[in-house]
Amino acid sequence: MVIFGKTDNKSISISIKPNCLTLSISSTDDTQVFSFDHEGRLWAAMINGVSYRRGLDGKIVAKWILPKTHNHCRRWLSRTEGEAIEERANKIASWLLQKIISEQIQLSDLPQAVLDTLSRVIEFTVDRYRKDINRYYEVYKPIGILPPDQYMAVFLQATEGCSFNTCTFCDFYKDRTFRIKSPDEFSRHVKSVLSYLGEGISLRRTIFLGDANALIAPMPLLRELLKIVHHFFDVSSLGGIYAFLDGFSGALKSLPEYQELAQLQVKRVYIGLESGNADLLKLLKKPSDPEKAIETVRAIKMAGMFVDIIILLGAGGHKYSMAHIEDTVKVLNEMKLNADDIIYFSELVESEGLAYTRQAYQAQLKPMTPDERIKQGEAIEYKLIFPDGSTPHIARYDIREFVY
Ligand code: SF4
Repeated sequence: MVIFGKTDNKSISISIKPNCLTLSISSTDDTQVFSFDHEGRLWAAMINGVSYRRGLDGKIVAKWILPKTHNHCRRWLSRTEGEAIEERANKIASWLLQKIISEQIQLSDLPQAVLDTLSRVIEFTVDRYRKDINRYYEVYKPIGILPPDQYMAVFLQATEGCSFNTCTFCDFYKDRTFRIKSPDEFSRHVKSVLSYLGEGISLRRTIFLGDANALIAPMPLLRELLKIVHHFFDVSSLGGIYAFLDGFSGALKSLPEYQELAQLQVKRVYIGLESGNADLLKLLKKPSDPEKAIETVRAIKMAGMFVDIIILLGAGGHKYSMAHIEDTVKVLNEMKLNADDIIYFSELVESEGLAYTRQAYQAQLKPMTPDERIKQGEAIEYKLIFPDGSTPHIARYDIREFVY
């Protein structure tokens, strides 16, 4: 429902939906838009043509498009800059609520839900945001990464870290030892997530079982953990459960076990294949075997779940490029993917301090430019064959844009 009004030479629109409240304030020279979850937290904004996305951890990414070149730009704000955006959102909401209460703005049929959420929004002063971020870090160990289609999931940390943690290009979980939570500990975690999200849960869709490799938990324990998820959430109305499965050197699940996971409403499994080339996987210290990855994907799909395959572009530089393209095409074609599946192309990010960066320098692997990486993705895509014409969704996965 959208309600329109005017005050102080500004046009106001208030959009209230079951998942969020959005305020849009326009004057002759600018328009500002702020979106809040129903707990009152800012989660998105648009100011002077720059869009902002705020994570629960308080980090804010700004994105804009350059007028002449149409290049996409991105910048993570410092905490001080982020607080300025939070303060601005709070001031706008307080100003509007004051106008409504003092009847200086005429808004017909204003639903009570608008006043309820606005009252929560104005409690989110900078100080309250700081406390909220501290609370977030009491509930979660830092969340390493999520697939782009899962940024709005309810994240549940059934495991901590990665059971492999050897891949040279990945530093998401280097700060922690892998462990699987007991049912008791996981129950407590789920309760604290629910209490933390509060009314903001309505903004979330799907449930993501993290960290990396939560599905590696032995079936009796995994079954218990998934039952806890069902106890606390209406899983179907949230759109099901999603999780990573990474590395294929350990004990794999059987088809009946995958079928049981499908019955427990695990909908999609995200697999970091990275490459179909075994030598490149060895170089990357990825504990994976392309043949086992094919078998696993077929079993998962046969069980009725969907898959999402992540391919790492630029890995191994020019030296491995041709083999990476050819073997990745072979493996992807063998997987018999269809329109329900996703292929993500994720560019290697060679940040300083990463083991891969050191390794590539020492091995004199000539890095690929961003354009060459994109072309590598296109070369893979061009050779993919989907026999029944049912093509998976193919998208970019930029880990630098991850926000939760
Ligand atoms: S298996 Fe996945 S999460 Fe674990 S270290 Fe490798 S890339 Fe990172």
